[in-house]
Amino acid sequence: MATYYFYQCNSCDFKFSTSEPHEFLYQNSELIQLPHPSWDGPCSGLFANAYCPTCKEEKKVIIVEYIDENVRNPFESVIENIKPEFLKNYSGYMKDYPQSKRIPTESYNYSALICPTCMNQVFCLPFQTLEQMCPKCTKGKIEKDKARGSYMT
Ligand SMILES: [Zn+2]
Ligand SMILES: [Zn+2]
Repeated sequence: MATYYFYQCNSCDFKFSTSEPHEFLYQNSELIQLPHPSWDGPCSGLFANAYCPTCKEEKKVIIVEYIDENVRNPFESVIENIKPEFLKNYSGYMKDYPQSKRIPTESYNYSALICPTCMNQVFCLPFQTLEQMCPKCTKGKIEKDKARGSYMT
């Protein structure tokens, strides 16, 4: 579900947010964020807001795209309806589930998510560690913004 997490430098105003998976639809090749969580129409897949430590900025990262957009539940799919280039994001499930079973597509393998610009691993979830000084002031540490915490949309 689309929970958002907020981060901030402990010495300057640099900040970013990340999110858990959110439904989207391609319209004229533009990514449109769909209403959450009870969308009842076509869905192209799920994306997450992530932070790329290499590009040093927020990125939208596609987690999964569906072959048939008329999915009943955007948060699960049979393997056959997932575009093959996104199956790497479910390596654990690929081993554990026989071909015909549905896999929970919001439970992706977070270490497989890469930045669409530089192709390096991105930072998305609060239990991942971000070992990086602030890219803006270069001396502060990036910490979870306790004042804002996380919220669902
Ligand atoms: Zn800073
Ligand atoms: Zn990047």
